Amino acid sequence: MSAQNISNTTLGYLARLGHAMRRHQRSVSIVQWCLVSLYVLLLVVPLFFSAPHPDDGILTHPRLFSQFLFWGIGWPLIFLSMMLFGRVWCGLFCPDGTVTEYISRHGRKQSIPRWIRWSGWPCTMLIVATVYGQLVGVYDLHWGTLLLLGLPTLGATWCGYAYGNGKRIWCMYLCPANGSFSLLAKIAPLHFHVDEKKWKQHPPPLPRIDCPTLIDIRHMKSNSPCHMCGRCAGYLNAVELDSRSPSREILTAPSNPLRTAEAATLVFGLLGVCTMAIRWRESNLFVMLNSALNHSALAALDQYTAPWWILANHPADNHVFSLLDGLSIVLYIFGGGILFGLLLLTFLTLATRIAAIPSLSWQKLSLALTPVGGIGIFLGLASFTVSLLRREGLDLTWAPIVQHGLLLGSSFFSLWLGAKLLTSQRSLRQYCALLCFATAVVLIVSVWVEKLSA
Ligand code: SF4
Repeated sequence: MSAQNISNTTLGYLARLGHAMRRHQRSVSIVQWCLVSLYVLLLVVPLFFSAPHPDDGILTHPRLFSQFLFWGIGWPLIFLSMMLFGRVWCGLFCPDGTVTEYISRHGRKQSIPRWIRWSGWPCTMLIVATVYGQLVGVYDLHWGTLLLLGLPTLGATWCGYAYGNGKRIWCMYLCPANGSFSLLAKIAPLHFHVDEKKWKQHPPPLPRIDCPTLIDIRHMKSNSPCHMCGRCAGYLNAVELDSRSPSREILTAPSNPLRTAEAATLVFGLLGVCTMAIRWRESNLFVMLNSALNHSALAALDQYTAPWWILANHPADNHVFSLLDGLSIVLYIFGGGILFGLLLLTFLTLATRIAAIPSLSWQKLSLALTPVGGIGIFLGLASFTVSLLRREGLDLTWAPIVQHGLLLGSSFFSLWLGAKLLTSQRSLRQYCALLCFATAVVLIVSVWVEKLSA
């Protein structure tokens, strides 16, 4: 038995899986390019077909089939996978990541400019893409899908051509999903564990690692930036794929102001704007807002439309938004999302002020909302899948039980995290702080309960 085999037998199955990922990079690359081809096919082929007839279904019309694969299956599963396996999707399967990394090996290889490193990009890109997606009718129109997915692919291509050398600069800073994926990966029970002691036993010069996201692996404490590509598995016998408690990263996160951008992405982006983007179609509040605008001085806007790439404008699909509709959507999703985020922020700030624990900032406490926020968004996305499958005649009477069970479980997980962070001394004051935090959890749950019962 070779030395390599002997050491492999002493490794756990997860570590061995990590080593296999590193050894089989060629196979990974083949899978990645197959997915790029499938992605392009699903985006382009439906364009050659006319608008679906009301009697058409997922299996009888390419546009509906492609929409179902992208938004009914792909997006909810990708979201869920972040909470279960970390950013495996990013590192192994994402077409944009594959394209940007490949092109950056052959492009201009410039260094990363300062503007790209701005910490506000994850939140800004998440909000802009979410609002824009709803304006162009992403869930109903293939043209909307083409814009919402195609524009980031063009961005990834350009970024790869301009910056980095075989790196994923787009994914690290500008990808619209980066902010939410970074947050969800924090509660994943899988991660690449770094043993600094073992690392230090090796004197320099050390062999090079081709980390596509330029991580300082030796000091890596968070799962957020790691794309789980496996290329560093087994490095110096100090880096291994491993399991961990889903609460560990949240409970041990440093409590410094640098976390503000991350916390804002969670509170205003994921919990605020993304929630409203999933809610607006069934919302009575949206109908009231639209009707109020229709009876205001802005009513004339209802006569005008905009080009399809700004606002959905497809008479053949019976899907046209007027400028007034567009304004209502922006006000509801962006305005409502920011207001909801401010409400959550108020309870988070109150909780930290009342608890008065020096090492606990609102930014750190906000991370305890990740489980309920992440599962809420997943359920919101999956409700689209459920309604599409019901339309196809599938019996999904069990779905509400699973949906409510997941929501309940994730809210208890968030409450438990909040209790761990807030009630270290078990004083009355700290229990009052926990009550404030619990109010934020209840607010999030109530939004999703309403959505699931709609
Ligand atoms: S640290 Fe870098 S090389 Fe290692 S798995 Fe994560 S992304 Fe890949």
